[in-house]
Amino acid sequence: MGFIEGVDRRQEALLPSCVDDYIAPDALVRVVDAFVANLDLADLGFDRAVSAATGRPGYHPADMLRLYIWGYLNQVRSSRILERACGRDLEALWLMRRLAPDYRTIAAFRHDNPEAIVRASATFVQFCREQGLIGGRTVALDGTKMRAVASAKNIAGADRLARDIAHTEREIAYYLDRLDVIDEQVTQGFDDQPAHREAFAGAIASLQRRKDRLAKRQSELAKREEKVIVFGEPEARPMGYGRAPKLPSYNLQSVVDVKSGLIIHHDVFNDANDSHLLHPVSLAAKDVLDADELHVLTDGGYSNAEEVARCESEAIIVSAPIKRGAMNTEHFRPTQFVYDDESDTIRCPAGQTLRRSGKHTRNRAIRYRTSACKSCALKPRCTPGVQRTIHRLFDQSALDRMEARIYAGA
Ligand code: SF4
Repeated sequence: MGFIEGVDRRQEALLPSCVDDYIAPDALVRVVDAFVANLDLADLGFDRAVSAATGRPGYHPADMLRLYIWGYLNQVRSSRILERACGRDLEALWLMRRLAPDYRTIAAFRHDNPEAIVRASATFVQFCREQGLIGGRTVALDGTKMRAVASAKNIAGADRLARDIAHTEREIAYYLDRLDVIDEQVTQGFDDQPAHREAFAGAIASLQRRKDRLAKRQSELAKREEKVIVFGEPEARPMGYGRAPKLPSYNLQSVVDVKSGLIIHHDVFNDANDSHLLHPVSLAAKDVLDADELHVLTDGGYSNAEEVARCESEAIIVSAPIKRGAMNTEHFRPTQFVYDDESDTIRCPAGQTLRRSGKHTRNRAIRYRTSACKSCALKPRCTPGVQRTIHRLFDQSALDRMEARIYAGA
């Protein structure tokens, strides 16, 4: 038994010489080509959509957009790999009509047209919706941390900058002292040490430059009124999970259509916490889909009462597990206290009624208490303090409705 053998490379064959014959009639790349051909690129805001009267001709943005979308559909993001694909991938050869832009041109196209590409993506989503390729009624939302190019060494806070400047100043003072010692020795008749003198002067100049750089960063940080800054990538922020080191990163939010698995909308934020992003990201996805109502499925990191309430007011129905704090198993849990919407009171496990007794503005919560705690037989099981306090969020009703919907399977 032998092996499967390939064909002799020198074997002559009557292969079609037309590149179009190599692409199947129903290949996705044909959809990409037809879709881009029907776009009004100038209207979408692409640079050089109209050719200049003078100068060297450039690549048409339609060709660059075709390559960008084809790369996206084939999970090729690297401009160098896209450059190579233009020379050896049959689909890319067909799509680009054998044009082969270099990787710098491909990277520059992405860099120079971020907003136009987002608008083209939104048009693509609309196109898919019109063709019935996406459901457009239910989407899934999640976020991921994307590493910035900047090194962790470029993260600086006010304390660290002040410490580094003080350390640099001490080092400068040390080398100045060394120079003073040499001067002193020369006045006492010893030989000068030009090599040492030159080395110390060089170290001082280098430290002085470092100090100037740190001082510049310090004033930039003060101007931005932020706690930390990532130099080199000022939009990035230190982010990380749990106790892992916080590295310069971005928070990438993606909304995916549940029916088709297509990304409907994505955006990049520098807020590491997802809980404030539910409303803006969901609303943007709803706008892209041009939907009257949208169902959003997401995880507990987004179950922020205020955001869920804002979504409700815009016909965005959210389903997310409710995040509850650590439970104290020794005492009655907050879920054992039943809220009555009509009377705006809470009934405790002893059957007493807790009424409003103030607000916690920072936490956006209302306090509920009862004076019955003083003589309550269940108090040891309820609170170690004088009185049990239940905090109910201003927008808790939105979370309650969401939870009821989830349990009802709606
Ligand atoms: S201590 Fe107060 S809140 Fe707790 S069960 Fe008794 S009356 Fe109710």
